Amino acid sequence: MIEIAGLTKRYGGATAVDDVSFAVEPGVVTGFLGPNGAGKSTTMRMVLGLEEPDAGTALVGGRPYSSLKAPMREVGALLDAGDVHGGRRAAAHLRCIARSNGIHARRVGEVLAEVGLTDVADRRIAGFSLGMRQRLGIAAALLGDPGVLMFDEPINGLDPEGIRWIRELFRGMAAEGRAVLVSSHVMAEMALTADRVVVIGRGRLVADATTDEVLKRF
Ligand code: ADP
Ligand code: ADP
Repeated sequence: MIEIAGLTKRYGGATAVDDVSFAVEPGVVTGFLGPNGAGKSTTMRMVLGLEEPDAGTALVGGRPYSSLKAPMREVGALLDAGDVHGGRRAAAHLRCIARSNGIHARRVGEVLAEVGLTDVADRRIAGFSLGMRQRLGIAAALLGDPGVLMFDEPINGLDPEGIRWIRELFRGMAAEGRAVLVSSHVMAEMALTADRVVVIGRGRLVADATTDEVLKRF
C-alpha cells in the first residue's frame, strides 16, 4: 500500500502540495480527483522519489521509494505516457526496462499481451497514438508484477473501447489484492472507475471517502 503523511511541496513561493495525507489500500481502486494543477502529479512524483518533499513522507509498503531494493517489483507507475522515447520498438523498450530492473525478459511478451499490443510489439513507438502509448506505459508498470500501481490520467487519449478495457484492468488488479491509485480531473470517470476517491484542490486534501459519498457531496 501507499501511505502519504503531511506531504508538502513548494515551488518558489507557491505550494503545489500542502500537508496532504491519505492511504492507498490494497484490494480497492482509489481515485485521485482534482482539476489541472491541483497537485496530483506532484504527489505521485514524490511517491516515486522523483521530487523531494519539503515536508512529510510517502511510503510504499512501509518504506521510502529510494530504499526499495527492487522498486519496479513493488510499485509500477504510468506518469507521462507521451514522454516515451519514440525511436525504439515497443518490445525493445520494455526489454530494456526489464533488464535494468532485473526482471525476466519473458514478462515482456506477457505484459504486451495483457495490454493488447502484441501485434505492434516490433513497431516503433514514434508511430503510436496516445492511446497506444498509454497501453505501453501500463505494460511497463506491470512488468515487475507489483503490488502497488499508480496511473496518472491514464484515460487520456483512449477510445471508448480502450476506456472500458482500462476500467476492467483496474478492477482486475484490485481484485488480485493490489493497491491501485488512478488520477483524473473528471468526476464522472471516477464514479465509474473508483471505489474510493481522494479529492485534491490547490494542493490541499478536500475529501477522502467512498465514491458514493463523494458523489453526494460534489
Ligand atoms: P495536477 O497533476 O493535479 O495537474 P501538478 O502536480 O502537475 O497538478 O501541479 C501542481 C502545481 O504545481 C501547479 O500549479 C503546477 O504549475 C506546479 N508545478 C508542478 N511542477 C512544477 C515545477 N517543476 N516547477 C514549478 N511549478 C510546478
Ligand atoms: P532508458 O531508455 O534510458 O533505458 P528506461 O526506459 O529503461 O530508460 O527507464 C529507465 C528507468 O526508469 C528504468 O530502469 C525504471 O527503473 C524506470 N521506469 C521506466 N518505466 C517505468 C514504469 N512504468 N514504472 C516504474 N519505473 C519505470
